[in-house]
Amino acid sequence: MPISKKDRIHREQKKADAAGTRTPKKANGNPVKPPKPTSICANCRKEIVNTNLTQLEVHAATHDAKLWPKEKCWPNDFK
Ligand SMILES: [Zn+2]
Repeated sequence: MPISKKDRIHREQKKADAAGTRTPKKANGNPVKPPKPTSICANCRKEIVNTNLTQLEVHAATHDAKLWPKEKCWPNDFK
């Protein structure tokens, strides 16, 4: 009897577990990407990934630095 698709996936997962390469997968087999944390600019409401502070700084620089320093754009990321 041929193994079912479910068994095959289960075997592949066990193999990946043993190799330490297992990544979360959706039911259709696509890898699940963890959502990146984002912050929303207090000035223009633009949403930017906040794991890269340089990106936040670069964005803050597009506003008037005197009126909107990066601490005001991203109060949660620059204190
Ligand atoms: Zn902004």
